[in-house]
Amino acid sequence: MTEQSTAWDRLLGLISLTDAANQGTTPEQAIADAIRESVVNAPSLRNCLYPGCLREFDMTARMNGRKPARPSWSGDGWHQVTRGPSHGSVCPDHVDIVTQHLPRTVDVPNGRWMAVCACGWMSRPQTYGGLLRPLWEEHLLLAAGQLTPPVTLAEKTGRQPLDEFTEAALNELYDQLEDTEHDRAETREAAQAMFKAWDWHRHTLGGVGRAVVAVQNYMRVAVGETRDWTADRHDAYLWGVLIGWDDDALEEIAAKHGWNEHRVKYVREMRALLAPITDQPKEPTT
Ligand SMILES: [Zn+2]
Ligand SMILES: [Zn+2]
Repeated sequence: MTEQSTAWDRLLGLISLTDAANQGTTPEQAIADAIRESVVNAPSLRNCLYPGCLREFDMTARMNGRKPARPSWSGDGWHQVTRGPSHGSVCPDHVDIVTQHLPRTVDVPNGRWMAVCACGWMSRPQTYGGLLRPLWEEHLLLAAGQLTPPVTLAEKTGRQPLDEFTEAALNELYDQLEDTEHDRAETREAAQAMFKAWDWHRHTLGGVGRAVVAVQNYMRVAVGETRDWTADRHDAYLWGVLIGWDDDALEEIAAKHGWNEHRVKYVREMRALLAPITDQPKEPTT
């Protein structure tokens, strides 16, 4: 039983050492070069993300600026989609339709996700984000007219006779009912969250308003008793922001303390910001 030689040795046996020497190389070197080249230049094919499209292009050839092994593998006119539920390459045939329906992923309450299309279409919220891509693909095919939209029960004219109801039809109705209930619960939760946020801000602002009014009252009591609020520039500034000078008084104070127009404008601005908090109409006591 003779020992089987390796494929490498058998390949070398086929090559003329003389020819190789004449060309300034060795058989080993030539084979190694051939292997390296076939690995480096091996095509790396990318598909079009449009469902059912079979076009592909050679990414390696594209990146190396090399001619692809087949003309149909050219990357000319291909686009890349880098975000949303369906990213990847788009062939020139499908760039237009995919651009019109470019999807993005949006997260909604309850740890769920939705695909939102550039055309305005939205998927139903899904718990598993992996479902968004096929849903968007279905939408894309419907938009392209490659699929016929299903007639939903609600769109059918007249009522379906009871004896024509199949189990599947009933299940679909129950599914719709369940979805509706879920959506309703979600809407209510969102409304409650918004109300809580609004209520919190209202209370906080109310508290700030009361605190500032307390300071205002304290300052007003001090008028005449202990302090002329125009005499000192710091006092005049505080009064201007917290209570507000009328136009004439502000002009006089600005002249007296050397305030430029920017400072005057700033004092007016700060006063205007505080006004809605401190000058709120009193809430009716219940
Ligand atoms: Zn395509
Ligand atoms: Zn769309």
